[in-house]
Amino acid sequence: MKFDIQLLLLALAPVFLACVAGELWYLRRQGRLSLYDWRDSVCCACLGLLHQGADKLAWVLVLPLYAWIYQQHRLFQFADSWLSFLLLFIGQDFLYYWFHRVSHRVRWLWAAHSVHHSSTRMNFTTAFRQSLMYPLAGMWVFWLPLAWLGFPPEQVVGVVLLNLAFQFFVHTQACPKLGWLEYVFNTPSIHRGHHAKNPRYIDHNYAGVLVIWDRLFGSYVEESADDPCDYGTVKPVNSFNPLWVSVVEWRDMLREAWRAPNWKDRWTVLFGPPEEAEAAAARWR
Ligand SMILES: [Zn+2]
Ligand SMILES: [Zn+2]
Repeated sequence: MKFDIQLLLLALAPVFLACVAGELWYLRRQGRLSLYDWRDSVCCACLGLLHQGADKLAWVLVLPLYAWIYQQHRLFQFADSWLSFLLLFIGQDFLYYWFHRVSHRVRWLWAAHSVHHSSTRMNFTTAFRQSLMYPLAGMWVFWLPLAWLGFPPEQVVGVVLLNLAFQFFVHTQACPKLGWLEYVFNTPSIHRGHHAKNPRYIDHNYAGVLVIWDRLFGSYVEESADDPCDYGTVKPVNSFNPLWVSVVEWRDMLREAWRAPNWKDRWTVLFGPPEEAEAAAARWR
């Protein structure tokens, strides 16, 4: 039977769960078990499963478009080789960086991505915290250039999921800085900074696998012991209900867009940076 690449993350679930067990054991030994809250972790696990379902459905819907671009309009023909896989991997990671950066700076995408950030905890289960609304937000658009360049749709799906699988391992407070790896890869220390809302860290470290993009495009910040990470979003969600967590920012955004007094404010509320959208809505609220 052929392995369905779209189920890669589900297939890796035993590895992820073993890491959660290992982290729990380690934190208990250190007396830091309070980094976990079972209600938060159960909510994250539910969000992960909801995301898996929505993502599978989205791939079924958009793969024909990928296939059409790949078959009719591709620019290059790549041989099946490690070199072309490496090219695809780096290309997708580059696009992921921009998808992630835009997700923090455009409210429409932030409405989906904020789910990943709305926990005040940071542990391996935080990685399960994904939004089922990504297909609606348009995440799939960001990988279209890969099909256009000439990478087969199934390989694109595989590499998108591999990137996400890698990112599971950076969601932990049980791992210190990793020396020279900090210059090349996204690491737990780098990603802790990404999840912090302190002014020093907010809107930095968008890396998926490679941190070179942050260093190149000026969005890198180093984790500092003088300024411990304060996890969560500026606008707290205060709920462990996975369905509520998934839709609350969409509700706020659409309600504010509906009530906006003019089209300029409506645009800001939908597509402006989250803090500008918030400031605009505060004027007429
Ligand atoms: Zn993020
Ligand atoms: Zn994360």
